[in-house]
Amino acid sequence: MIPFNKPYMTGDELYYIKDAVARGKISGNGYYTQKCHEYFKQNIGFRNCLLTSSCTDALEMAAILIDIKPGDEVIIPSYTFVSTANAFVLRGAKIVFADSYHNNPNINADILEELVTAKTKAIVVVHYAGVACDMDEIMGIANKNNLFVIEDAAQAIDSYYKSQPLGAIGHLAAFSFHETKNIISGEGGMLVINDDFFDQRAEIIWEKGTNRSAFFRGEVDKYSWVDIGSSFLPSDVTAAFLYAQLENLEKIQSRRKHLWGCYYKGFQELALGGLVKLPHIPDYATTNGHLFYLICDSIEQRSELISFLKEYGIHCVFHYLSLHKSPFYKENNQTKRLIYCDNFADCLLRLPLYYELDMEDQRKIISLINDFFNKR
Ligand SMILES: *Cc1c(COP(=O)(O)O)cnc(C)c1O
Repeated sequence: MIPFNKPYMTGDELYYIKDAVARGKISGNGYYTQKCHEYFKQNIGFRNCLLTSSCTDALEMAAILIDIKPGDEVIIPSYTFVSTANAFVLRGAKIVFADSYHNNPNINADILEELVTAKTKAIVVVHYAGVACDMDEIMGIANKNNLFVIEDAAQAIDSYYKSQPLGAIGHLAAFSFHETKNIISGEGGMLVINDDFFDQRAEIIWEKGTNRSAFFRGEVDKYSWVDIGSSFLPSDVTAAFLYAQLENLEKIQSRRKHLWGCYYKGFQELALGGLVKLPHIPDYATTNGHLFYLICDSIEQRSELISFLKEYGIHCVFHYLSLHKSPFYKENNQTKRLIYCDNFADCLLRLPLYYELDMEDQRKIISLINDFFNKR
């Protein structure tokens, strides 16, 4: 059986966890949390960041930081994970869903301005599969209309937009270290803060609404309840696990990008023959080997391909269902038509891609999929 995903453990995790335990302080914002923050600032170039227990947490922090109030509108792609929307719904926002491009699941920047109203407060972009959204265009629309931009960069570690790292462009960004992502800590995430306006308040919200971080730095003489907040910070044990992964980032990434490239080459002929569609990577974007997908002609064809591969022990899975058609959203809103999003919901199929995927197994997957389409 070739699974769809297999979390990769580098072998150094227990060493750092043991050290974290030996240090005797395993709550949040400890030694390894600081080490991870330093890593991201020095190696990726983020201005400021805070580890969180999940990307969902980081998105919830972002919604609090930009002061989302009931009635505010937030523009979000419909082709995404529920947390992208839920974080803002929890604060009372009205979600306005945007469609994807015809050839790329990312939010279509060309239609965004039509969705802006006097109540719009933010645009949340999702770099699907780690492929950048058109950030110049999106930041331009945001600046012109006085909106915040939040990057849901859950899948986007080590990927770039015109040589800028994803997560460093919007006002705030959220990463995930869930075990299905490139770099993992079981559950885990990070908020990246690209505007110093948010620095102080982010730390307070992170620490349950207290100025505890400033207190430990000796900046205030007592620590008090100063704002709303929650327990968004992960244990230092989680950070120690993550640190082991970060030390292996280059190795993990070069393997994943290699596997991605083999898939891309392996399906070139099918794509040139018009039998299947491959991911479209715009000139301004890079791939980070997060996930590889094919676009089938129809939901029926995709189901057939899933069953066909299953017979050979290969597990492939589709991805998001359009959020604008979800039971929760439909209850309160008129249905609208987002045809490209619906097309990805019906036709996109993700193939196995993980660090330990065997090259021989990958060749088998490529060859079987070629057979499937060529015999039709
Ligand atoms: C994985 C993912 C999330 C959620 O991440 P968690 O760390 O599990 O909260 C959110 N948005 C996108 C686009 C994701 O891929």
